[in-house]
Amino acid sequence: MTPDVRDRIVRPTARVPAQQDRVSEATWGRVADLIGQAGEVALACHVSPDGDALGSMLAVAQVLRGQGKRVHASFGDRVFSVPRLLRFLPGLDLLEPPAAFPDEPELMLTFDSSTLDRLGLLAANAGKAREVVVFDHHPSNHGFGTVSVIDPTVAATAVLAEQLIYRLGGSLDRDIATCLYAGLVTDTGSFRHSSTTPAVHQMAARLVATGLRTDEIARELWDRSPFGYLKVLAAALERAALEDDLVWTYVTHVDRATYGLPYDEVEGIIDVVRRTDEAEVAVVLKEDDHGDWQVSTRSKGAVDVAAICSALGGGGHHNAAGYTSRLGVEETMAEFRALLRKA
Ligand code: AMP
Ligand code: MN
Ligand code: MN
Repeated sequence: MTPDVRDRIVRPTARVPAQQDRVSEATWGRVADLIGQAGEVALACHVSPDGDALGSMLAVAQVLRGQGKRVHASFGDRVFSVPRLLRFLPGLDLLEPPAAFPDEPELMLTFDSSTLDRLGLLAANAGKAREVVVFDHHPSNHGFGTVSVIDPTVAATAVLAEQLIYRLGGSLDRDIATCLYAGLVTDTGSFRHSSTTPAVHQMAARLVATGLRTDEIARELWDRSPFGYLKVLAAALERAALEDDLVWTYVTHVDRATYGLPYDEVEGIIDVVRRTDEAEVAVVLKEDDHGDWQVSTRSKGAVDVAAICSALGGGGHHNAAGYTSRLGVEETMAEFRALLRKA
């Protein structure tokens, strides 16, 4: 199909698909009531948002705006900036910095955040909100709000966001579908991870039917970067170490500063490192702009990296998890190795 033809079949989905999650009808009903009664809805996703966090939030924000709600949407990073690779998402005009977020929201919805901490600066607002509905799919999330829409069996928070949209009487247009699709492709690793069920492909089919451009979304998310990325990637790969079944490397602030590379540009390095055949576990330490190390970990299945990262104050999924370390590179790795040996 040529892009021209695809562009012309922009149509909202009229039919509401079967539920794909394990959230009870009573919970969905309560959520619909809360939103129906609210004049203003405050939406937040986790800090350093990925496609699932920001995409899920912006999809719902656009639907709520269309229904005449006053909408606030934000994430609690100390330096508020949308990661470059997500700047193609429709609805960015709805975003505002955390300082503009309601101090004591009447109704707050959180997306893809497994803990209160992951809301960063907005954790304080959640603490004061009258109602907090938590939309998430992290197995470690036991609910930090007043209502939990949490299902660890779904591939992405975007699955729950789509279901919410139908339950609010909304429908998908190309912009809303683009946001949901960004969440679905990000969290399934482009439909490669084991979370890629028939339901995931069925949802993708509904989204693509709105006329969204899968080629353009893929290019924005994975196939472009500033030239400096090549140099920083080269430095990181040069330092990569293979220790038994662990492969790891690190990227310093200085590496990035040399090429003016923002932090979010190096998030994908783990995807190169984790391909190492000899390793079961891959780790990339990324120094952020505050001098902390953001640790990305990946497993091929034998090791539960979420358990290790949770023990170190972070979280995530069995095969993809992370945490923040304020130690140096060697100390961070020593701590990680010790837990890995026990795992
Ligand atoms: P990343 O390595 O940043 O792509 O993150 C992989 C997974 O780990 C994601 O599902 C995140 O939700 C989770 N994760 C990453 N960093 C943290 C953190 N500091 N605290 C809790 N979970 C995290
Ligand atoms: Mn996420
Ligand atoms: Mn997610």
